[in-house]
Amino acid sequence: MKIVKIKAKKAFAPTKIPGAKWVVNQYIGCQHACKYCYAKFMCRWYNHGKWGSWVVVKENMADLVKKQVVNGSVYMSSVSDPYQPIEKEFRLTRNVLKNMDKRIKLSILTKSDLVLRDIDLFKKFNDIEVGLTINSFEGAIKKKVEPFSSSNKRRIEAFKELRENGVRNYAFISPIIPHLTDIEHLIEETKSFTNFYWFEFLNLKASGKEFREWLKQNYPESYEILSDKTKAEKYVKEVINAIKKAEIFVKGICVHYPKLMVVK
Ligand code: SF4
Repeated sequence: MKIVKIKAKKAFAPTKIPGAKWVVNQYIGCQHACKYCYAKFMCRWYNHGKWGSWVVVKENMADLVKKQVVNGSVYMSSVSDPYQPIEKEFRLTRNVLKNMDKRIKLSILTKSDLVLRDIDLFKKFNDIEVGLTINSFEGAIKKKVEPFSSSNKRRIEAFKELRENGVRNYAFISPIIPHLTDIEHLIEETKSFTNFYWFEFLNLKASGKEFREWLKQNYPESYEILSDKTKAEKYVKEVINAIKKAEIFVKGICVHYPKLMVVK
């Protein structure tokens, strides 16, 4: 794993991420190395090799968050996972949270139960939500497409612990893929411990050539639905109807056909 330490100029950057005004990325690059990751486009600007093999560490971020004042909601993080494995050693996310103004409205998203380490800090924020992505990737499929993140079981356990500690939490069910994602089961497994849900259908284009090829080879029916506009729209409609029937609080459903839309 290549670790590149840099000094950043600013902590917060404006963003178009649904529900957020600012984004904070203390890391760029991600050891979780999900094959479908939409952030792998960062490899164009950071010439360090294949996505998942490098992480840029903005080592002065904990100082920078003290200096920049922002109004509006902040999302952590869009081009990395704030609780990827190196965070255990670097504690950069923890230090950023320590120094961040606790009046900031903060939304965190991760695929790691390392997030539980920072419950003491989450409790200090006035308005915080901590999300974990969950999906139906298990066993050999998980090893292939999401090799280094916590198992879904551990992520679901994390919801329980956040709930027990009074930390508002949400499930981000993503990426939704026909024949691969069992939405009803995921809702059933999580609804007793989560405050609300976000859903996201796979963005086939942003998932990259390698992932598309893998899907085509291994799940041709899934690929066919996602790559055909009429079939994709029909699938999206059916899933949205099923989600709306579930007795849960849905903040948004991200659809990428033909471009990002948030259905509420
Ligand atoms: S955890 Fe998120 S940022 Fe990291 S590789 Fe996976 S999808 Fe990308």
